[in-house]
Amino acid sequence: MRVSFYGATREVTGSFHTLTTDNDNILLDCGLFQGRRKEAEAKNRVLPVAPKLFTNMVLSHAHIDHSGRIPMITSGDFHGRVFCSRATAHACEYLLKDSAKIQEGDASYLNYKTAKSFLAKVRSGNSKDKISKKDMREIKALLKSGDHDLRTETTEKLLHEHNLQVITPLYSMTDVEEGLTFFNGVPYKETVDIGDNLSCTFYDAGHILGSAMSVLQYKGAGRTQTVLYSGDLGRFNKPIIQDPTLDFAKEHREIDLFIMESTYGNRFHDPVVDMKPLLKDVLFETFERGGSVIIPSFSYGRTQELIYFLHELYLEGDIPPMPVWVDSPLATKITHVFGEHPETYDEETHAAFLRKGLNPFDFAQLKFVQSVEESMALNRDTKSHIVLAGSGMCEGGRILHHLRHKIHDERNTVLIVGYMGQNTFGRHLQEKGEKFAAGGRQGAPPVVRFYNKDYPLKARVKTLGGFSAHGDRNELTKVLKESNLNIKKIALVHGEEEQSLSFAEYLRGEGFDVVVPHQGQGVVV
Ligand SMILES: [Zn+2]
Repeated sequence: MRVSFYGATREVTGSFHTLTTDNDNILLDCGLFQGRRKEAEAKNRVLPVAPKLFTNMVLSHAHIDHSGRIPMITSGDFHGRVFCSRATAHACEYLLKDSAKIQEGDASYLNYKTAKSFLAKVRSGNSKDKISKKDMREIKALLKSGDHDLRTETTEKLLHEHNLQVITPLYSMTDVEEGLTFFNGVPYKETVDIGDNLSCTFYDAGHILGSAMSVLQYKGAGRTQTVLYSGDLGRFNKPIIQDPTLDFAKEHREIDLFIMESTYGNRFHDPVVDMKPLLKDVLFETFERGGSVIIPSFSYGRTQELIYFLHELYLEGDIPPMPVWVDSPLATKITHVFGEHPETYDEETHAAFLRKGLNPFDFAQLKFVQSVEESMALNRDTKSHIVLAGSGMCEGGRILHHLRHKIHDERNTVLIVGYMGQNTFGRHLQEKGEKFAAGGRQGAPPVVRFYNKDYPLKARVKTLGGFSAHGDRNELTKVLKESNLNIKKIALVHGEEEQSLSFAEYLRGEGFDVVVPHQGQGVVV
């Protein structure tokens, strides 16, 4: 048996590994590369192995850096199945459709830009700067209907006619719909055959609803070989979902190779503290000022964790009387997915909600925005409220509309509950807001620019840490040392090089045999 590594090697995104036996070739995850647009785009276009060579696929969880290229496999010459947990299959329905929408939108936008600049050159006699406003208005009217809707067909026709490059999306909504018919949701701890003498069993990875560690067992040539793939590993004591599994069935404890994530292999998180007192303080402070709380939040996981905490505060009578709005169609759908998978909840969630007949994701103050009109009305609502909207790093989506209407008002709070990547608008907002607060909010407020306009950042910016979905070095090590596994070798993936190498060195010091594979490298088991 051989395991090869093609993605998320010495980097975090684009998970793509293969497991090969005498008769089977199994794909382990098929994620999108994310990061700098051009670079990611080039990496995403090329599948390292042709789809027809795979007999089946195993998916660790629904995050797009693990699942986002599945439609490229299933729209190719692939005749296998995609095995994953039931909640993962369910969540993929929405996440992959959302991904197709983004791919299609990105491609249309890039084509629009090419066509616009081509027409501008033609009209101005090759000197783009000299184009008149009237000409530009006419070009835009040709390529767009209204302010936002792009005339995709007109644009593509024009590009074809003039032999200009047409960008096609990585996959379409139709590809996703077809791809979803390949999914097989399997309960945790139930063993399924995924090839000749080859089986797979999922155990909870505690990272996100439905996330799984996969035990892949091959009983060929008179001996049993076992590979464990961690997918992404979560933190211990998080709300809603179970902790990462430490107790494996007897027949799954002898691991020849553990393919393990190492996102935070060289980092230590704050302990998982009770977020509620901090959250409560921010809500009451803002309410007393007559303001609203704007929370940029990822649709899958973070939004539901916040709803869970807000619901607990509500039950304790410790929340100000302000409505809680979820203004994200994707988060609304994913919250329903959470609601339909109580089999994955931890004991605390069962005790606090389910055994009392309560749905953790439904309480009187919680409302889901149903239409664009309702969202626009909420933008302008000056009565105190709480709003959760995407995108999580403020790079697009409805959160920007809420910020546009609310950041100039010092009564409001922007509450940051997630990691803001470098160079994102969310990071920019966080740094400027925190600097202004550290200086005692003296002088003119900082200015932030978005939608081609400057806005004074008068709203307060607060950060609530401790929400990470990935285990840190201590938590990853806990899985290795406190589980009942006996591990012969570890391959570290899914970490920036510095994180993986430093974790490898630490683990070697603890007596483990560790490799950090390069892209394309393999390990014989
Ligand atoms: Zn993940």
